[in-house]
Amino acid sequence: MLMSYYILNDLEPKNFFKWFGAISQIPRGSGNEREIMDFIMDFAVRRGYPCERDSAGNVFVTVSGTPGYEHEPPVLLQAHVDMVWEKKEDVVFDFETEPLRLKIQNDRLMAEGTSLGADNAVGVATMLALADSHNIVHPPLELLFTVEEEIGLIGIRKFDMSRIRARRMLNMDCGSIDTICVSSAGSVRFELSQNYSVYNLPEGYRGLELKIGGGRGGHSAIMINKGRMCAVNSLAALIQSSSDHCLLASLSVTGSAILDNCSAVLALPENRYDEILSEMIRNFEIIKALYAEADPDIYLSLEAVETKELHVLSAEISKDLISILGILRTGPYRHNAANPDDVITSASITGLSLDKGSFHMTCVIRSSSDIDADNLFHNFRSIAEKFGLHTHLSDRYPGWPEKMDSGFRDLFRQAYVKMTGREPIYERIHGGVEIGIIAGAIPDMDAVGYAPTSHGAHTADEYLLISTVQPFWDVLTDVLSKKEKT
Ligand SMILES: [Zn+2]
Repeated sequence: MLMSYYILNDLEPKNFFKWFGAISQIPRGSGNEREIMDFIMDFAVRRGYPCERDSAGNVFVTVSGTPGYEHEPPVLLQAHVDMVWEKKEDVVFDFETEPLRLKIQNDRLMAEGTSLGADNAVGVATMLALADSHNIVHPPLELLFTVEEEIGLIGIRKFDMSRIRARRMLNMDCGSIDTICVSSAGSVRFELSQNYSVYNLPEGYRGLELKIGGGRGGHSAIMINKGRMCAVNSLAALIQSSSDHCLLASLSVTGSAILDNCSAVLALPENRYDEILSEMIRNFEIIKALYAEADPDIYLSLEAVETKELHVLSAEISKDLISILGILRTGPYRHNAANPDDVITSASITGLSLDKGSFHMTCVIRSSSDIDADNLFHNFRSIAEKFGLHTHLSDRYPGWPEKMDSGFRDLFRQAYVKMTGREPIYERIHGGVEIGIIAGAIPDMDAVGYAPTSHGAHTADEYLLISTVQPFWDVLTDVLSKKEKT
């Protein structure tokens, strides 16, 4: 069953690259994990390790401690097996059937023309290499291989957490060789919606299409701290002062991250049209100055539209909705006091539409503190409900809060300092990782995120820095060799 991949033969640590090569030969998109899980089950069965596959497809393997370590407290290692399928435009490649075409360029291990899936093959290969080793000492290991992480942490949410005995865990889907991950954000996604009556445009109004665009956008988790413009919030700021006179007809946005483009079709009274337009243009200059550094290319376009077929909301509803567009501000809400670059809590509008009276807005709150996220959600919800909007919680998963006192993190720190003579960087990620789901279910779980360095996850340029794998392996095996003090 084991396929070898000759170009990896000379790389160290040998066992890691042997298994990395092997899993690269097996197609493993999200929802398409049966074959890789068959492979892992077969791996475990051949070695006599107890293993189980749950109804979601997750695989859980237990490996006993090596001699002298049988009664040490167990460690959970966890990784997702699915990978994001991305390829360069001109490349012909069938992810469902073809093995990845691994290649080495200097210190980079890549896949020819496609994503590499180091996210999270590094975790899977590490777990297989440990379980396959004969000369590494370790406590009892619990190996949890999960499915469908990349499409919303789906597999881990279906896993029965009572299977886990360990209260220390390593996830290799975050962190890098110099960076130990110590917390991640949970997420609350909610929808605001309402269906309104629309009216034919009254006499004496003129139609206007207003567009704010040119923002740099970016991922609503990673880029939330960069001061970039949310086009919806800017639109609200632009028309707020004239909202007594606006009749809204439609709203739309592009993108699903920090919204870089927002259009509104509205109607303005004929006799104030020019005055309101000049005010909007003046307001836009102020907004543009506000984003001069972070978002230099934003623009405003104003275009007259035919009024004949315009159906608009009432004046009162139009004013309410314009307020709503500004109330949920996309951006950070709480920073880490010790490291202001680290965002603890943020919110963003990630979708918006108004068409024929049907209004819909999607918002996401992220926080490593569940209480902070829930509190913010309740605030927004009560405001939205006061405005007569329906609110619906569409998705929620817990954050992984930083533990001030983490013995497992300290072991990684000590091993890293011993190896490099430097202190590691502690990283608090503002996105979701599977640790959040596990720590949410097992609050006394002492978790660490640490991995070799890779870049370009979810793109065809993804690569693993080969020279970081051996030091990662050295730190990990050093940590596993430590016995709990009695
Ligand atoms: Zn991942």
